[in-house]
Amino acid sequence: STFTSPPLEELLLENIQLARFSKPTPVQKYSVPIVAAGRDLMACAQTGSGKTGGFLFPILSQSFLNGPSAVPEPTTHFSKNKAYPTALVLAPTRELVSQIYDEAKKFTYRSWVRPTVAYGGADIGSQIREIERGCDLLVATPGRLSDLLDRGKVSLANIKYLVLDEADRMLDMGFEPQIRQIVQGCDMPGVEDRQTLLFSATFPRDIQMLATDFLKDYIFLSV
Ligand code: AMP
Repeated sequence: STFTSPPLEELLLENIQLARFSKPTPVQKYSVPIVAAGRDLMACAQTGSGKTGGFLFPILSQSFLNGPSAVPEPTTHFSKNKAYPTALVLAPTRELVSQIYDEAKKFTYRSWVRPTVAYGGADIGSQIREIERGCDLLVATPGRLSDLLDRGKVSLANIKYLVLDEADRMLDMGFEPQIRQIVQGCDMPGVEDRQTLLFSATFPRDIQMLATDFLKDYIFLSV
């Protein structure tokens, strides 16, 4: 099988070729059509399965086609330098968000989509400056994103895609309060078209509860 059913956007296919990905991994083969069809997804997949492409490809394909979404006019002094990403990926560690960000950079090459990354234990000032230069897809750890939200640097009002990657590890690390706060922050009154994708290596009771609480009419995928 190839990356052409369902068809991915042309520039994305070129970038996938540049990365020398010749055919989809199993998780990509199943998740791309599910996400492209607009469905929420609970996927049990391990690191190394290609799960990053599994969520990035359908999100980027649709984003490239949609073009930039309108950013609301600033209403207060403090919202002037606020970013309004349309896609948010949460992952537990600096290492993991950096890997996802590197993939996102490869696959957004020559596109209008600008990915940015934010994690704790590093200077927040330089991360904020990067975000202020443009942030369409934000890859972040829950703790650092909470900090950016508290500082008014990021708004979740435009989020169309929310990905929780390695959700079991995020819960193990005690991020559940931040995750719940962030997901609530994406729930804008009247906005019904957000898609939520939950990836986890394991599917214990607390992850099942997150799926029940966060996902709408979701498809369960185990690879
Ligand atoms: P992941 O599970 O997303 O962290 O991916 C594991 C590794 O496999 C990464 O180095 C990816 O760049 C690589 N990879 C992912 N999908 C493909 C593919 N379809 N073809 C070749 N390599 C891939």
